[in-house]
Amino acid sequence: MRYYDIHTHRPAIHPEDMAIISIDIRKPFIPCALMYSAGVHPWYIDYDDKGTTGRLFEKVHEYAQLPAVIAIGEAGLDKMTAKTTNDYLSQQTLFISHAHLAEEVKKPLIIHCVRAWNELLRIQLSFQPAVPWVVHGFRGKESLASRLLDAGFYLSFGLHYNIISLQEAWTYHRLLVETDDNQINIRDVYHQIANDLLLPEQELVLEIEKRLKDMNMHIDNPMPAAPFQHKDTGNTAFHKEEMS
Ligand SMILES: [Zn+2]
Repeated sequence: MRYYDIHTHRPAIHPEDMAIISIDIRKPFIPCALMYSAGVHPWYIDYDDKGTTGRLFEKVHEYAQLPAVIAIGEAGLDKMTAKTTNDYLSQQTLFISHAHLAEEVKKPLIIHCVRAWNELLRIQLSFQPAVPWVVHGFRGKESLASRLLDAGFYLSFGLHYNIISLQEAWTYHRLLVETDDNQINIRDVYHQIANDLLLPEQELVLEIEKRLKDMNMHIDNPMPAAPFQHKDTGNTAFHKEEMS
């Protein structure tokens, strides 16, 4: 049985499993898996270029076209790392650029959000996205989980979470599972979550696979392919169209 890791920074441990690896857009791209997400993390905003016109976002725009890039992100808002109001406004501008890109390429948006829930909800309400918005690494309380789920968000959980929020997301059919930057096996996270939900583990795995398909995540689509030459850096990425 295949387990899906919705958000991680390293390849899956079990060869059968599928991990959506968040590309570190600051570094040369080294293909190591079949599925990726691409975005500028709010920690790495290109402040000099005021976000939207930044070099990093241009790279994201280019990667977003690749079939192997099945989601946009992680992108988002982080009040803890914004040193000034201007930083925070730049984060918001850059995040909205990612939201537009996700709509353009019809791929889900994976969101990092720290202490910026009101702004995230406000942006989502005015933006009215057609693609799914996934808050990754959700550890918030039940009241926040309810606000986000009512607004239409998906919530992705790692090893640490509020169990009532977890149950709430399961009830809404919007629960996803991830390892993020922890050096753990995604199967251990599924095991723990299934226990906490009092479910057979197999049911959780099948439900999440179904969920990803419903979200239009092309989990069956990406294939290893001939290298795609990045025009600025000469870095390689997978490019399905160039397969022969
Ligand atoms: Zn992450």
